[in-house]
Amino acid sequence: MERRRFIVKAGGVLVAAGATAAVDAPNVIAQAKYQWRMATSWTPALDILQGMAQRFAKQVDEMSGGRLKIQVYAAGELIPAFGVFDACSQGTLETYNSASYYWAGKEPAVQWFTTVPFGMDAQAQMAWYYESDGLKLWEETYAPFGLVPRPSGATGIQMGGWFRKKINSVADLKGLKFRIPGLGGKVYARAGTTVVLTPGGEIYTALERGVIDGSEWVGPHDDMKLGLHNAAKYYYYPGWHEPATYGEFVFNKKAYDSLPIDLRHILDYSTRAIHPAFLAEYDTKNAVGLQKLKTEYKGKIEILQFPAAVIKELRKLAQDVVKEESEKSPIAKKVYASFTKFQAQMSEWAVLAEDAYQRLIRA
Ligand code: CA
Repeated sequence: MERRRFIVKAGGVLVAAGATAAVDAPNVIAQAKYQWRMATSWTPALDILQGMAQRFAKQVDEMSGGRLKIQVYAAGELIPAFGVFDACSQGTLETYNSASYYWAGKEPAVQWFTTVPFGMDAQAQMAWYYESDGLKLWEETYAPFGLVPRPSGATGIQMGGWFRKKINSVADLKGLKFRIPGLGGKVYARAGTTVVLTPGGEIYTALERGVIDGSEWVGPHDDMKLGLHNAAKYYYYPGWHEPATYGEFVFNKKAYDSLPIDLRHILDYSTRAIHPAFLAEYDTKNAVGLQKLKTEYKGKIEILQFPAAVIKELRKLAQDVVKEESEKSPIAKKVYASFTKFQAQMSEWAVLAEDAYQRLIRA
């Protein structure tokens, strides 16, 4: 005890253990401090999404000893929900938190980095980012915009969404006005649906007023936060259109490159640390939300599975649409090839591991 407290031999000089901090202090004081702004595409009612952006900022602040502070703004506080990509690309913002499939109009390839209809689940898609080419291809896709992307968290497989009328066949999708982004939206469009893209915070009003006939968002927890269960009766599953759904933390490249290397590492590791926390929170709160819908809203809403024939037909449409979309740019073609190959490889393993186990414990 005595020894531990007093004798730390460093370079032949005896110093008290507590003094080591004082020895390092001049370096810390000399380091520059950074103040960044992050805008998100989320309304504050979305506690998991907006909460994760705040958690990210807190992690970075703590790990950097206050050297990198990020002020987080919800959608519309600083930048509109769908204005964040441009604002960050132009350098108005140092960073944003959103989902890449919102930027499909800028480059078709971005859609694969969020989720793909009948594509990989969150677990496999994470492996694609970090153990295969996923993140490298994402960086390549965002480079022309002066942006550095990182996956944030995944929601996991979503719900199919809220409909005002029952869906018994694909023909029932024709003429509907449905809110849905990304490749999933393009599949609906192929089925004859009028597809609209509304920010999360504005869906309830559009649905309640009949401006749209239905909408998907995420799952029971978020969807109730948005009030969607009060605006449509039929809640369909599974979310074939969004089996993984990763968000994104994106940095302005000049701002990112201007940071010392340790702060860049702190940003990168912080994005990776968000993923397990985010998925755990979604899984837990969705399970609770589902029970709430089944008990408190019994009779007011119906939770229904898409008929097998509808899924089968949508899957055929999805294969065509996703392939056609991949032919719209050279980078989309590369991303599609990499994603598709990796999914085939991963699903063979998943059949023997995950699927077999899940079937076993449900038997
Ligand atoms: Ca969704």
